[in-house]
Amino acid sequence: MTRRMQFLMSRHKCPACGSPRRESSAGSSVARFECGAVFALDNGVIAVRTVCPARCERAARLWNDQTRERAL
Ligand SMILES: [Zn+2]
Repeated sequence: MTRRMQFLMSRHKCPACGSPRRESSAGSSVARFECGAVFALDNGVIAVRTVCPARCERAARLWNDQTRERAL
């Protein structure tokens, strides 16, 4: 196992939002997190397969709160 794969496999939380890692099958070089973020080794380089959506979801909630219609 390469150093980068060992590193990737030892990540237990999403680096962007802290969500826990999902169980992954043995021998997999893909790291999936509960928030939906996915990292994988592509040609020996750690790459993002799916970006963490947590901050964008939080932004959408904030924007909805900021633009809520208020009763007069
Ligand atoms: Zn995340």
